Amino acid sequence: MKNILVVGGAGYIGSHVVKMLDQKGYCPIVFDNLSKGHLAAVQSYPFEQGDIRDRERLNEIFCKYKIEAVMHFAAFIEVAESIQSPSKYYHNNVENVLHLLDCMVENHIPYFVFSSTAATFGEPVQKKIDETHPQHPCNPYGNTKLIVEKMLKDFEKAYGLKSTVLRYFNAAGADDSGEIGESHTPETHLIPIVLQAAAKKRPNVKIFGTDYPTKDGSCIRDFIHVNDLSQAHILALEKMEQENKSDQFNLGSGNGFSVLEIIEKTKQITGVDFKVETAPRRKGDPAILIADSTKAKNVLGWSPRYSLTRIIETAWNWEKNRKY
Ligand code: UDP
Repeated sequence: MKNILVVGGAGYIGSHVVKMLDQKGYCPIVFDNLSKGHLAAVQSYPFEQGDIRDRERLNEIFCKYKIEAVMHFAAFIEVAESIQSPSKYYHNNVENVLHLLDCMVENHIPYFVFSSTAATFGEPVQKKIDETHPQHPCNPYGNTKLIVEKMLKDFEKAYGLKSTVLRYFNAAGADDSGEIGESHTPETHLIPIVLQAAAKKRPNVKIFGTDYPTKDGSCIRDFIHVNDLSQAHILALEKMEQENKSDQFNLGSGNGFSVLEIIEKTKQITGVDFKVETAPRRKGDPAILIADSTKAKNVLGWSPRYSLTRIIETAWNWEKNRKY
C-alpha cells in the first residue's frame, strides 16, 4: 500500500482527497497543524499533528513512514485577507512550502501534488482559461501560488522533484455521506454563505458588486465539486508515477454561473427565501473565471460528475447536519 502524506488533510479539500485515497487503496497520512483544519474530519486515518515550518518534525515523519508522494493543501485561501495581510500569505503559502520541498528533496521523496488556483491567471484574456493562458495574478494570494508553481519548475530542473500542479476554479459541495464538508472560520465562500442564509444562520447574503461587465452585473465563477477535484488528484498522482513527468492542469466544470444565479438556484433547491443585499465590489475579484479543462479530460481521463444542482444539494445536506 502506498503511503501518501497529505499536508492539510484535516481541511476542506484535503479531507475529501484523504477519503478518496483510502477508498482507492492508498494509505493517506494526514499531517495538519489544526490551525484551520478539524480533527473530526480526519476520521480513522493515521494523523500526525505538526507544522511544515518545523523541519525536524517533517524529517521525523519521513523517517517513520515510507512516503511515496506528498500532497499539499495547507494554504491560506482568502483573497481579501491576502490583500490586507500579504506577509502572512507569503510566509505560509511560500516560505512554509519551501521548507516542505527542501525536506522532500533531503529525504528523496519523488512526487508532489500541489493545490494551485485560477487566481494565478488574474483577469482572463479569453473566455475560458486553459493551461496556456498568461499568468498575471491580481492579488497576493494568486502571487503566492504562482511563486510556488515557479519554484516547482526550478526544483525539478535542479533536484529532479516531479510535481503536478492542479489549479482549482471554485471548489464547492460536500461528500455525499454528509460526514465531511466545508467549514471555514470565518466563512468567505459564496455557496456556504448563501446556504447559511437559507439555514437562517446569518441574516442575509451580500452580493459583492453588481456593476461587473457580465449578463446580470454580478461575478461569474466556475463551481466544481470537491469529490470531482479529489478524483483529479488520484488520476494526476497515478499519471505522474506512471510517466515520471511533471504537469499542470486547470480543474473546473467549464460552466460559469453568476453570483445572482447561485442565489436563485439555492432558493429553489432549499425552498427557503432569504434577504439579499448589494454591496461594493470585493477587492481582487476578477469579473469572470471559467476553466477550460480539456487537457485534464484528454490526459488524465478526468470528467466531472457533479452538476451545480448536486453541488448545492450536497452542500445543503452538510450545512443542515454539519459535524464541525
Ligand atoms: N461573493 C459574494 N458574496 C459573498 C461571498 C462571495 O458576492 O458573501 C462573490 C465574490 O465576490 C466572488 C464570488 O462570489 O465574485 C465567489 O467568491 P468566493 O469567495 O466563493 O470564491 P473566489 O472566487 O474568491 O475563489
